Amino acid sequence: MVLNNALLLTLLVLAVAAGWTLGRGGLRMDGAERAQLPSQYYRGFNFLLDGEEEDAVDAFTEALAINEETLDTHIALGSVLRKRGEVDRAIRIHQNLLKRPQLTAVQLHQSHLELARDFIAAGLYDRAEQLLLDLAAQSSDFSATAQRHLLEVYEAQRDWRAAVTIAEQLVTLEEAGEPSAAGHGQPAQLLRGHYLCEQAETALADGDAQGAQRLYEAALRDQPQDLRARMGLAKGKLTEGDAAAAMEHFNAVMDSGRTCTPELLELLSDICDAQGDQDLYLTSLRRYYEQHDSSLLALALANELGQRDGDESAEAFLRQTLEGRPSVSVAAALILKALQSDTSLPERRVLDQLISNQVGYQCDHCGFSGQARHWRCPGCRHWDSIHYQGDTQGKAYG
Ligand SMILES: [Zn+2]
Repeated sequence: MVLNNALLLTLLVLAVAAGWTLGRGGLRMDGAERAQLPSQYYRGFNFLLDGEEEDAVDAFTEALAINEETLDTHIALGSVLRKRGEVDRAIRIHQNLLKRPQLTAVQLHQSHLELARDFIAAGLYDRAEQLLLDLAAQSSDFSATAQRHLLEVYEAQRDWRAAVTIAEQLVTLEEAGEPSAAGHGQPAQLLRGHYLCEQAETALADGDAQGAQRLYEAALRDQPQDLRARMGLAKGKLTEGDAAAAMEHFNAVMDSGRTCTPELLELLSDICDAQGDQDLYLTSLRRYYEQHDSSLLALALANELGQRDGDESAEAFLRQTLEGRPSVSVAAALILKALQSDTSLPERRVLDQLISNQVGYQCDHCGFSGQARHWRCPGCRHWDSIHYQGDTQGKAYG
């Protein structure tokens, strides 16, 4: 939610008035602060009358006394300013809080956490990291939250090694039943797996295939059927020339409950070619299709059947799949086969366009879509939330 200046100013005026009233009532506020309030309060109004809203916000912020009752107001105000993109002001407010000697340990930690969030918003990752490391070590209440923010810092810096260390700590906390560790974002096991796969891909780019393999294998610790790690291992084994081992990893993918995608079909085809077994591709496609009857697999299977047994066999298979599972792409493939004698027919162009316009991959969380898989959504920054959608009638989870 974006607050405009008028609403922010109204909230500030009310907060100052409330804080001042409480102060006059004898709650914790020293004499100097009590004396300062009215002048800053009226100074703020003068800025307002002159139309200088930004200066008015600063004046009212200064007038806002800090005591037990207004601490939450300061923190909320800093948070609003941060969300408005006014990070410098948010930092000033939270740093000002930390100068107060009367804060309890919990209030001090809360202020540190807010300041770390400001630093992250400002891109000052080194400063955020130090605050969050201290907080994770010193506060049991804020430890898990601080560790989650540390993951943000390390993800932004692509420091996957440090991210793995923190994710491991969160996994341990979650396994110990620590309630604060759960309920914050995505599961730590999933994050740990992706950080290790990111490290593995960096190792591969550096020519360290053995190191990459060790990292992919480490990613399987909490998630033995992890798609990304299994694909990485299968490709690695294929490069080594061990197609049988690559097939074992691919079998784990087939058994994982995730359906086929174009990239998986390509990998399967490469593995079967490397095995030198003419029947393996067809056998594997049949097995895959029995587990997940997606349109993509039906079309791949029909293509193989067509090459081996002729077009009639392929068409009979596709018609049979349409009986049990309506699919635009399967129906279009059948019509295109009937039209193949003349490529200039307008209905052929329409069907070709219809198939090419299909959604490829889409994020379950924010709806971002594209023709390529991203392990981390460019839109919402969630990990593994982008899945292959197939055609409109054949939604799939890949
Ligand atoms: Zn998304």
